[in-house]
Parts: sequence; C-alpha cells; structure tokens
Amino acid sequence: MEIWEFMLVVMRAQATDEQVRNVVETITSIGLKAHEIPGSQRTAIGITGNKGELDPAVFELLPGVAEAIRVSKPYKLVSWEVKTEPTIVKVGSVEIGSGDLVVIAGPCSVESHEQTFAVAEAVSRQGIKLFRGGAYKPRTSPYSFQGHGEDGLKLLAEVRDAFGLAIVTEAIDQESLELVEKYADMIQIGARNMQNFSLLRQAGQMRKPVMLKRGMSANLEEFLMAAEYIMAEGNYQVVLCERGIRTFADHSRNTLDLSVVPAVKKLTHLPIIIDPSHGTGRREQVIPMARAGIAVGADGVMVEVHCQPERAWSDGPQALLPSMFADMMQQLKEIHNVVSNLTVASAK
Ligand code: PEP
Ligand code: MN
Repeated sequence: MEIWEFMLVVMRAQATDEQVRNVVETITSIGLKAHEIPGSQRTAIGITGNKGELDPAVFELLPGVAEAIRVSKPYKLVSWEVKTEPTIVKVGSVEIGSGDLVVIAGPCSVESHEQTFAVAEAVSRQGIKLFRGGAYKPRTSPYSFQGHGEDGLKLLAEVRDAFGLAIVTEAIDQESLELVEKYADMIQIGARNMQNFSLLRQAGQMRKPVMLKRGMSANLEEFLMAAEYIMAEGNYQVVLCERGIRTFADHSRNTLDLSVVPAVKKLTHLPIIIDPSHGTGRREQVIPMARAGIAVGADGVMVEVHCQPERAWSDGPQALLPSMFADMMQQLKEIHNVVSNLTVASAK
C-alpha cells in the first residue's frame, strides 16, 4: 500500500521570516506541498504530497528549524498536534472561534427581494453581522424549489450593501462554488455534500472561508476528514457545523448531536457552530437547543428566520419569527456570558 506521509517542520521561536520562507521553498522545490501554520510562539510547516517516507534530517538541518516530526494520526492539519492555538475564522467583521458569541441568521432560501430584505432588516436590528440564505438548494425532491441561483446571490450581495451583513451561502457544485466565492463572504458546504470529495478539494482552492456542515450519517472521523480535504488544498479557514444526524427519533427532524461539540474541541483547533433549525426541524425546539449549543461550548449558532413561515418556500416549520429571534438573542447573550466566565474561572 502506498503511504502518504505527513511531516511537520517546527521552527524555532526565534526563526526569521526568511528562514521560514527558505523551508517552504525547499519543500516546494522537491515537488511537495508546504502548509504554513503560524502560531504566537512559533511557526510550523506541514508537508503533504510525499509518497513514502520522508527523512526528517533533510529538514532539521535547515537554518531556524527546531525539529521535523512525522504525524501518524489520521487527522493532520485539523489536529492540535499540528496547530496548538484555536483557529479564528474571520468573516466580514466577525471572528468565529475568538470566544465572541457568533450568530448567523436568515431565511432557508432566498425567495424574493421583499422577503429577503424583510428578514435581513429584522435580524440586523438584533445586532447580528452574518446573514444566511440559500440560492442553491439541495432538495429531496427534484420538483421542489431549487433556489434562484446567481440571481439569488445578487440579491444577497444587495443585502450586504444595504445592511452591512456578511453573507454565508451554500455551493453545491463547481459552477455554484465559483459564483458563491464571487458574491458571498463564506462558502457553505451542505450536509449532503460533506463527502463530495471533489467539491471539498475545490473549496480548498478557494480563498473564502468555508462552513462545512456535518453529513447526516457522518461520524466524527468522517466529519474531520472532510475538513482535512479542504485544508489539504491550502484553505485553512474552516468552520464546522453540527446540523443534526439521522436517528430513530421522530419527535424531531434530526437529532442535534450536541456531544459532538466537546468531542470536536478535544481533537481539533477548528471552531464549531450548531444549527438547531435543521437539527430539530421544529420551530418550538430551535431556541432551547440553541441555548444548549452555547452552553455546551459551541462557537456560535446558525438559525433560519422568516417573517411569514407559513408561506416559506422551504423549511417553514423550523423558521423562527423575528420576535422569537429577538428573544433568542437575549437568551444566548446571557448564557454566553455565564459560559465565558466559567471558562475564565476554570483556567485560573
Ligand atoms: C441549509 O443550511 O440551508 C441546509 C440545506 O442545511 P443542511 O445541508 O444541513 O441540510
Ligand atoms: Mn433550510
């Protein structure tokens, strides 16, 4: 079997930028891919693309290098072994993973100018900075509304200009990926595409941050490996999103797996948000589960909001009304305060 080895070159704390550049150039000159991973103490450089074993001594002899280590765990770029500080993903003015409470809100689908602007107005009044809305909708039935495509993206770009909101929206294939990269601020990869490896690789070549939703039957390893695909291509701005998994339970659309949050935090430096809208599918369950998500340590939540859910073109039963969204924001701020203070207390 062909083994693709991953090696991590750890620079000395005092290493100069030039020494880092020299290591990167050495790696690329022998046909391998270098992944620069800056940290506050020192820089590390991951090496991928090598078939067979690499000799650590080749890199340890380079000036400024502290050590070169083989990473044998399945998780490489996503793991704490490779990056010892939490990743903060910047989207517009928001820093996901910084400890701030992050809320992404908006309708399931972009339906019309009037509907999208009404929701944007309502959610931005609550101080949120990230707006969601689907222009490409992966639907169970080919006869259901599939999204407005590029026209929907243009509407979202208008929302950004009108309300100062950064845009998160889904791409479903290469064509939509390129358009989403052009119009939006963050690329969403949906649950159904979590193991669409060619799409993941293409998203890895984009320069916008990616929100990767957990597949509905993916275990944690598969979830993190999907993130690894994106990062292996050089895009390190990845946010994970738990959106519920399939179980036998029928009191909710999916089962929001909140225990994945501490499990993710143990294995990876990447931020994770939760989506209690798709996670429950039922309006009355969304706010309690959003509260629970923040309590369990998620970096944020994403929820669907609609001014007339009974008329929504998709996912009406799980959409919050603006007044409910306002209540949720208040509650999440209170819970987030408690959780932040707990973290500080236990760190002392
Ligand atoms: C969505 O967020 O619009 C969506 C379709 O979610 P998921 O991929 O989690 O089903
Ligand atoms: Mn939806």
